[in-house]
Amino acid sequence: METVKFEQLDITEPILRAVTEMGFEAASPIQAKAIPAQAEGLDIIGQAQTGTGKTAAFGIPLLQKIDPEEKKIQALILCPTRELAIQVSDEIRKLAKFMSGIKILPVYGGQEITKQIRSLKNGVQIVVGTPGRVMDHMRRKTIRLEYIHTVVLDEADEMLNMGFREDIEMILKDTPVQRQTVMFSATMPREIMEIAKTYMREPVIVKVVKKELTVPKIEQYYYEVKAKNKLEVLCRLLDMYAPRLSLVFCNTKRQVDELVPELQGRGYFAEGLHGDMKQSLRDRVMAGFRNGATEILVATDVAARGIDVDDVEAVFNYDIPQDEEYYVHRIGRTGRAGRNGKAFSLAVGREIYKLKDIMRYCRTKILARPVPSLNDVAQVKIEKTLDRMSGIIEDHNLDYYIRMIEERINKEDYTAMDLAAAFLKAAVRGDEEAEERETDQLAEADGEGEMVRLFLNIGKRQNIRPGDILGAIAGEADIPGKAVGSIEMYDKFSFVEVPYRYVSNVLGAMRHAKIKGKTVNVEPAETEASPRLIRGKDFTRLKIR
Ligand code: AMP
Repeated sequence: METVKFEQLDITEPILRAVTEMGFEAASPIQAKAIPAQAEGLDIIGQAQTGTGKTAAFGIPLLQKIDPEEKKIQALILCPTRELAIQVSDEIRKLAKFMSGIKILPVYGGQEITKQIRSLKNGVQIVVGTPGRVMDHMRRKTIRLEYIHTVVLDEADEMLNMGFREDIEMILKDTPVQRQTVMFSATMPREIMEIAKTYMREPVIVKVVKKELTVPKIEQYYYEVKAKNKLEVLCRLLDMYAPRLSLVFCNTKRQVDELVPELQGRGYFAEGLHGDMKQSLRDRVMAGFRNGATEILVATDVAARGIDVDDVEAVFNYDIPQDEEYYVHRIGRTGRAGRNGKAFSLAVGREIYKLKDIMRYCRTKILARPVPSLNDVAQVKIEKTLDRMSGIIEDHNLDYYIRMIEERINKEDYTAMDLAAAFLKAAVRGDEEAEERETDQLAEADGEGEMVRLFLNIGKRQNIRPGDILGAIAGEADIPGKAVGSIEMYDKFSFVEVPYRYVSNVLGAMRHAKIKGKTVNVEPAETEASPRLIRGKDFTRLKIR
């Protein structure tokens, strides 16, 4: 796979600076092809999906054509949705950061039109809008098309699906005929070709030609996550699977630089590798990874190219790669020399479509997995700790320690089993506490701040008062009393609300607990409003007894 640097693409200095600041290491494949063609002034049909870097592919040459002195609308970008219009205008604004006098405005339905009109009156050169709202402004004469030299139809197939064909045609008819027309679309249905034929001049089709891709036979999973939870999810996966050596891929140098200290701060042996680093430093990082001092290598695609380490156990796509070929290269770093390997991908929002594309082109299956809960992570830790203990029992003479335990249990009123359980708890607990703190954010972001109703099979008849239930739950499960919600008591049973994130704790802790000397059965209440399947997690599995 050939790397094309932005410097090779004849890009003006301010945009190069912006691209560097955005942390882009090399042009994505679609950028490498589309930027020079569009810069030549050709009409273009680009076949590319979201996530391929298509916005910068049309945005860079478009920005280079804008005359900052001219305060009229020079370019119009049509997008199917308000979200995309905002996203595209943000990306182009970032690219234009070091250019002066460039104004970009997103216009979309749902936002007060008077606000948009005011901004338009201040002189805007690039309008990014949904077709309906652009038409509206055209009717009001608040958007004039006569100075437009470039029209971009972004996600054209999507716009047609949404019924914007008529609007798009009207808009194209009203823009100067000598304009440059650029169209990006993931698919090329007949209607797209009809528009191209009618409104474009000898368009060239730009797409990345797919090679036959052979995907290594390794287990591949993906997790749908929110952007702000990516780090937490990565850490949970690292803890769950505890790979000896793993590679974490990011799309930008900047992301590598941000992620490495985050991981180090959480106690992982992680180092970064990207193109901006001096060769001597890279060599040092690689040496650390080879000898195992560094367990997690965080890298960009370009930097990872030279890596020749055989025993990488897991590859993480912290960012979904921009090209299918990258995906294959990335995951090919694990499962080498007949070893087992795993690949994990974190998909945020629309990246899921990119993953689907990868699956289609690579003819491979990437299985969806739920984000492991803290409970899952703890379970794995307990098992790992117990395995370690088995090793110690087999390999060491424990006579001295056995005598110490005997002495202790002869003095106290508990068994060796109790002591073993306490040791196990202490061995995994330290980590758990740290994790709980870190995951509060994830819990809240996931709506885990919600309350879950629990059913208790004891009530007023047993002489129980709400305070007894509160005390038992807060005490046994080691959660703050104020976290416990409303308690409803009936003759033979009661309901109590606890925050979602404590449910597993409470259920586990109440298993052997008694309230006022009475054994109690606690389970998630089964009501219409509170089904047992909570956020995809089946609490019935945790049912006591
Ligand atoms: P797009 O396909 O335009 O939606 O872009 C997807 C994401 O990739 C955006 O967050 C871009 O900022 C980012 N991106 C675009 N070009 C590059 C590049 N050459 N290297 C790394 N990231 C990029």
